[in-house]
Amino acid sequence: MFKGSCRCGRVKYEASGEPIVVAHCHCIDCQKRSGAGHTTGAMFLEKNFILQGALSKFSALSEEGKTTTHYFCTECGSPIYGKNTKMPKVVTLSAGTLEEPNKLNPEVTIFSKNKNHWDRMDNSIETYDDMPDWKPKLGE
Ligand SMILES: [Zn+2]
Ligand SMILES: [Zn+2]
Repeated sequence: MFKGSCRCGRVKYEASGEPIVVAHCHCIDCQKRSGAGHTTGAMFLEKNFILQGALSKFSALSEEGKTTTHYFCTECGSPIYGKNTKMPKVVTLSAGTLEEPNKLNPEVTIFSKNKNHWDRMDNSIETYDDMPDWKPKLGE
């Protein structure tokens, strides 16, 4: 069980099971929405995700033709989770909003072509210039 919350505490969530994947992403969208060099996301099945509190959302069409929607606390703006239309059954939780983010083990880095020189990463994990051709295995 993973628990999380936003900066102000009005949004709380729980996700059960283990993450399907934990990934760092350097894409430009992630840099803009986080204000940092990359985001770190933990993917879970949406049916295992319980949320309380008021969220705002922002949707945009990505280059690959999918629509991504990001949900953030209406009050403090903490980015809580994201969804995309190509993988409708999963949510990607923002690692830094977890109560115990140190329990995660990131396995992959994507959109490395957009990485800034000051954003030093773990070179021992799989690293891709773009989005790899990958689909989660959803054991249901
Ligand atoms: Zn908040
Ligand atoms: Zn990204």
